[in-house]
Amino acid sequence: MIPESNITNIMELTKDQLISWLKDHDIETYRAKQIMKWIYFRQADDFNIMTDIKKEIRQLLSLNFTIDRLEKKQVETSQDGSRKYLFKLFDEQCIESVLIPEKNYYTLCISSQVGCAQGCRFCLTAKGGFVRNLTKGEILAQVRDIMNGLDDPEKLKNIVMMGMGEPLANYKNVVGAINTITDAECGLSFSNNKVTLSTAGLAPKLPDLNQDANVNLAISLNATDNKTRDMLMPINKKYPLEILLDACRKYRLPPRQSIMFEYILLKDINDSYDNANHLAELLRSIKAKINLIPFNEYEGSEFRQPEEDVINNFREILRKNNYIVITRRSKGRDISAACGQLRVRAAISNNA
Ligand code: SF4
Repeated sequence: MIPESNITNIMELTKDQLISWLKDHDIETYRAKQIMKWIYFRQADDFNIMTDIKKEIRQLLSLNFTIDRLEKKQVETSQDGSRKYLFKLFDEQCIESVLIPEKNYYTLCISSQVGCAQGCRFCLTAKGGFVRNLTKGEILAQVRDIMNGLDDPEKLKNIVMMGMGEPLANYKNVVGAINTITDAECGLSFSNNKVTLSTAGLAPKLPDLNQDANVNLAISLNATDNKTRDMLMPINKKYPLEILLDACRKYRLPPRQSIMFEYILLKDINDSYDNANHLAELLRSIKAKINLIPFNEYEGSEFRQPEEDVINNFREILRKNNYIVITRRSKGRDISAACGQLRVRAAISNNA
């Protein structure tokens, strides 16, 4: 959904759409590359500063397009350096993005929808339901705007689509944004293997993604049997484990790449010795890595984080089964770290 106006945010256009607009206006098509470089490399906010483009073209662009930024409503910084951004959109809706410091670079987690329809039981975003899809420009602006505020934008190395929303349920805009994020010639120039899309398991979309975008794939798995997964993630009733894992098996991967399976460890739900062995068995025929995420408790959450020794044992079983296992600790625990938490708090304070 784009706001009704004759003036469009130019970031909503794909490169091909911009080229065809230029053609329609009898402007040389190589200008598309120049314009996009100004927007994504040089962070231009105004067509008038695009000095290598003729004045008449700049004027025409200004009459037809804007270059929009998102309104930063709130930024919280954690003791561990994580920064959580709450952005306000044109229709007053809010989304979150989280900048996560690693040793000497940043990872940015971005949102793809306002709210989410998937209803995962452990997720705070799910509690607010689904509002709308983000546009391509809104997805891109999270990356462009946050880069613009960094002392050294080069330090932003990884983009992960693990924020609010199910990216594959907003397929066209997400793929459009990814293709600009990874466009080395005139987009944001991230390498393909530094961009990760995480899905709750919209299995039928995986072949399309495989064809239309070249990014890392992560599957939010979280259970080793359908009964538990049905309870945690309603999407499993539509696309149960067999269908999801079969789609993963068929997913073509470049050499040396694997699918990342995320597994949120929930105390007494999916953290047993048997669960770990079953997980190792389930993923045997897939090129898989495993990301264990001890549940990040939030106020009112019905689940708990397992004890430390349970987490360690779970990881060791997987390692003994020759999996690469990462244990991701939630950063920013002191700043509404759970997905959707800042948005929920903002909504509460707005309604107070
Ligand atoms: S975990 Fe992801 S897919 Fe599931 S409800 Fe939350 S935002 Fe949606």
